[in-house]
Amino acid sequence: QDENTDIVVIGAGGAGLSAAVEATDAGAKVIVLEKMPMVGGNTTRATAGLNAAGTEAQKKKGIEDSQELFYQDAMKGGYNKNNPELVKVLTTQAKDSVVWLESMGADLSDVGRAAGASVSRIHRPTGGAAVGSNVVSTLKDKVKEKNVDVRLKNKAVEILKDQEGKVTGVKAENKDGKAYTINAKAVILATGGFSANQDMVISYKPELKGFATTNHPGALGEGIKLGEGVGANLVDMAEIQTHPTVVPEKGVMVTEAVRGNGAILINTDGKRFINELLTRDVVSKGILDQKDGVAYLFFDEGLRKGLKAVEEYFNMQLVTEADSVEELAGKIGVDKDAMTQSVKTYNDAVAAKQDKEFQRDDLPLQLNQGKVYAIQVTPAVHHTMGGLQINTNAEVMNKEGQVIKGLYAAGEVTGGVHGGNRLGGNAMADIVTFGRIAGQNAAKAAK
Ligand code: ADP
Repeated sequence: QDENTDIVVIGAGGAGLSAAVEATDAGAKVIVLEKMPMVGGNTTRATAGLNAAGTEAQKKKGIEDSQELFYQDAMKGGYNKNNPELVKVLTTQAKDSVVWLESMGADLSDVGRAAGASVSRIHRPTGGAAVGSNVVSTLKDKVKEKNVDVRLKNKAVEILKDQEGKVTGVKAENKDGKAYTINAKAVILATGGFSANQDMVISYKPELKGFATTNHPGALGEGIKLGEGVGANLVDMAEIQTHPTVVPEKGVMVTEAVRGNGAILINTDGKRFINELLTRDVVSKGILDQKDGVAYLFFDEGLRKGLKAVEEYFNMQLVTEADSVEELAGKIGVDKDAMTQSVKTYNDAVAAKQDKEFQRDDLPLQLNQGKVYAIQVTPAVHHTMGGLQINTNAEVMNKEGQVIKGLYAAGEVTGGVHGGNRLGGNAMADIVTFGRIAGQNAAKAAK
């Protein structure tokens, strides 16, 4: 016996949950399919924050920003390979996404600086705490309050269409692997990326063979295949981002905010080697060029106090700590004199407000307060920029450049928003902004 609904949302990460809330608010009957035993997807792992320009939080801090500057940063960060129309939507509507999330109880009151951003515009919870879990729990409470039918351990295996090519529903598998069909007026793909699918990653970018990933195990790219099944066009598939600071073997990502708030990178010779705030691809390559392809994030107690997100790394015992730089160098097996000199040179640069060595323009604090810390890091596969082609209505496009009727997509499963390189903070902005657009438009189509 087939089921009937207005909208099926596939995937319950940030994009899918945002879409589900909007579609429900617009009066549609929504079923959310989530293959994992919990909601949240990879969004739960997002630490840095959500980029938005022109927010109240920025105004309070006296930060001058504009949607135009945000747009330019996103395009430049993506090497202008981004779809300009999608970036326009992202950069003009992200501030509304902040207001929307806050109205539901999310905490995005803290604003910080992130790599590739001309000004501070990355929004996150008080004290610099991780953003993803805060946003996911907010959205999760909301779908619960609205009695949305969220089905965990239910996987979409096929998108159904009629003879004209209009999407008519989804074939799914329940907890017991039993297949069933949901007829729907619209389907929203919000299945996330494919960073955890090694074979798929290598098929598009062979040089990433052997790389670890920061992603949750469900990031397998099934949404790409589901979309392809109904003729969706794919864009930018080879644009795959590595995150520069991941703890080797453990796959734990150290948030960009650590560098943003002032940490530096030291190689195994005890030397700084790069402007730590360059884009992810450049910093990743910089680390891979060092001996053993690793480096150390170095910071002090002063930084630790201002960034709650780092406590997690202490709890996971990823941090080596010492009372002095010299002692720390000894513990991590790095040349003591070189490291002491590197830290001193950097602290002098902060005092002089000028980094002559590597031209880092944001020098928030000297690293000389209390204890000192080091975390060994190496790059790992982090984000897949490519995916299903969408238009500004979040409608999925086919290979002939036409809209696939009844099919919408949002979040990491789509391509085009981030171009050749995603800036930290732009994924959260993307998934919520386009998730909302997909939900609103699918609900209209379902009327
Ligand atoms: P985004 O950031 O774009 O919202 P996430 O990774 O946070 O992406 O969320 C995507 C969600 O989609 C994950 O929870 C993942 O388990 C789920 N998912 C992926 N493929 C399927 C599928 N075939 N059926 C149901 N859920 C899926």
